Order: sequence, then C-alpha cells, then structure tokens
Amino acid sequence: MSKSEAGKCGLVVVAHTGDFVWRAGGAIALYAKRGWHMKIVCLSFGERGESAKMWREPGITLEKVKAARLAEAEKAAKILGGDIEFYDLGDYPLHVPTDAFEKLVDTYRKLKPQFVLTHSKEDPYNYDHPYANRIAQEARIIAQAHGHKPGEGVLGAPPVFLFEPHQPEQCNWKPDMILDISEVFDKKRQAFECLAAQEHLWDYYTRVALNRGIQGARNSERKDMKYGEAYQRIFPTVGGEFV
Ligand SMILES: [Zn+2]
Repeated sequence: MSKSEAGKCGLVVVAHTGDFVWRAGGAIALYAKRGWHMKIVCLSFGERGESAKMWREPGITLEKVKAARLAEAEKAAKILGGDIEFYDLGDYPLHVPTDAFEKLVDTYRKLKPQFVLTHSKEDPYNYDHPYANRIAQEARIIAQAHGHKPGEGVLGAPPVFLFEPHQPEQCNWKPDMILDISEVFDKKRQAFECLAAQEHLWDYYTRVALNRGIQGARNSERKDMKYGEAYQRIFPTVGGEFV
C-alpha cells in the first residue's frame, strides 16, 4: 500500500447482507487491497425478503435464517477485506429506530470516510433499499451539522455513490462512474459463492460485471478492462481540471 492511502476509509451502507456482495464487492475488495479501511454497515440480514431458498427447507426458523446469513456475510466480507457490522434491525420491512440512526451518525464522525456507497434512491421492487439510501444520506448530513453533539468534530463532504440496483431502469438509476474491478473480480466471485441462499444470482452478477467491463473499456483507455462495477453519483465531481 502507498503511504498516502493508509488511514483512509470507505463506508458502505446496505439494507441486507447480500447487497454489499453483488453491488459493491468489487469496490470493497479493490480499496481494501490498497490498504483502506472498508467499513460495511448491514442494517439487516435480509432474513425475510432475500432468503427465499432457505425458507423452503423443512424446519427452518427466522433465527436459523439469520444465523446462516450472518455466517455467510462474515465469510464474504473476510474474502473482500471488509470490516462488517450488523445492526440486526429486521427486513421486509426494515425500520431504523433512533438509537441505530444515532449509531450510524457516530460512525460517520468517527471514521470520517472519504466516500460512501449505498443503494439507489428508488426501487419499486424493494422498499428497504431506498429506505437504506435515505438513512445513509440523512446520517451523513446530521454528522455534518455543527449543532449535533456540539464540540465533536463534524464530517466533511464525502461523495456518495449509488451502487447498481437489480433492475436499473425501473429504479431511475443511470451509471456515471464505472469502476475497473478486473484485478479483484476473483474475490468478488468467491464472495458470491458464500451466499448459498442466493445461488441463482451468482452467474447473473458475473454477467453484470462483464457487461460493465465492456462498457468501461469502451468509455476509456482501459482496453483490457474485463470486469466493472457501476455507480451513480449524487453530488458533482469537484476538481481543478476536466481530465
Ligand atoms: Zn437487498
């Protein structure tokens, strides 16, 4: 790792355990490889809404699903190099009470992330996802407020990137950033394979990464780019030059 990248942090806020793997696993692996602290906040295990295969097993209970999803997510996070924290707030519907919200605000202030990754603003297939987006964004803004816990250091303005939803068009999501994840895709695929409850998505998200890779190569000089991960920015890019 270069010295300038030590001590840097990226924050990933997701509704369910699978989300960080499919949608941001490449970013987590890439930045962890560079020496960044990649913090993943999982608001729920996706135990009710994103574990259909497990619910078909005889004798299955909510506690068993949660325990299995926790174990899978820990294994996936370890492969990617992420530091995962589970808030265990329940899903379908997800509800974030005040104490959990405050904990997320404290996390922003403590870690001072250089960037934030979270869900799209809309998702007509899944209301936990836009809700997690709102929580991630609102906690960021409260962490910036001088009047919140006065005397604490406030957060700056880390850019927010929205990772790719399952069906982008219906979510009014359009990529304006494609991250080259070719060098870490093997780790992303290994992390997919930890998610036994969602085996039907392993090849689907491999195809998504391949397509984004082709588009990344088409839009850049990275002609050997094979795998990509796409994001939509909320705030403008700020700098002193165009390129
Ligand atoms: Zn989800």
